[in-house]
Amino acid sequence: MFEVVKLNAGYQFRNRFVHAVRNVSFKVEDEDFFGVAGESGCGKTTLMLASLGLLKRPGKVISGQVLLDGTDLLSLRVSDLKQIRWKQISLVTQSSMNSLNPVMKIKDQMADVLVKNHGFSKNDAYELVKEKLKLVGIAPDRMESYPHQLSGGMRQRVVIAMALLLSPKVIFMDEPTTALDVVVQRSILQQIEELKKKEHFSIVFITHDISLLFELATKIAIMYAGEFVELGEAKLVYSQPLHPYTKGLIEALPSISKDLDKYKSIPGRPLDLALKIEGCPFRDRCSYAFERCEVEKPELRFVDGRWVACHLY
Ligand code: SF4
Repeated sequence: MFEVVKLNAGYQFRNRFVHAVRNVSFKVEDEDFFGVAGESGCGKTTLMLASLGLLKRPGKVISGQVLLDGTDLLSLRVSDLKQIRWKQISLVTQSSMNSLNPVMKIKDQMADVLVKNHGFSKNDAYELVKEKLKLVGIAPDRMESYPHQLSGGMRQRVVIAMALLLSPKVIFMDEPTTALDVVVQRSILQQIEELKKKEHFSIVFITHDISLLFELATKIAIMYAGEFVELGEAKLVYSQPLHPYTKGLIEALPSISKDLDKYKSIPGRPLDLALKIEGCPFRDRCSYAFERCEVEKPELRFVDGRWVACHLY
């Protein structure tokens, strides 16, 4: 239903192009919970912005398609895209304080998109706002509040309610719980799961916290240097990771029962995405690297039930 095909995108600065998304393809089926994980700077947020047609200059999409029920969103005019956004595809951003307008009441900023782009009367829009706030556990009278009058968790719930306003089929969530403490984080994630069951939407969930995905996602993609390096069923990738980068991320996960000396981190730093990459992009950090990794780029191959890009397989 939602498909990204060979997407390439990045940022053009004078003579320097930062190639942040490199030939990425994936499919999201009805009611999937598709997780994308990787370190900061691996291209996750650019992938999301490019997929939603929200990449602003100096960002640009170089090639690829983003198909929603067969329509390529990247070929649509802005006015057509506005009709599709919120109704068929929407977004929950990272920091609710940044995405909410501090000088507008919650009801007005939520109703704004309904009135301006979807032909609602103000009263009908407010009714829908009330209904969606209730859905995320916020009393309707809080729609009279300004964002600073709500707690961090409530603000994030407002942003989720906003994304649900027109019952879209696909919702992108970019680190929606990162700025919250763990208790609020847990309750919001539970709520997202419940809402997904009730409202039957699909989720593309972007995070650097891979442990969240292993708990919640049905499918998972591990992103490194702008590319997917492992992609498959979340349970399988967690229980039998193949790519050395996936293994490294899993070995670094904290656990109550693990001895401190058993923790390992991945050496080195993520690649500079402005550089031309030859061979395997992970080779300087990989303890399994061998000669072939220096000269030949591994392509994604279907191995043991998932896709993996590594010469070991
Ligand atoms: Fe490591 Fe080579 Fe596999 Fe890259 S291709 S992840 S360097 S073993």
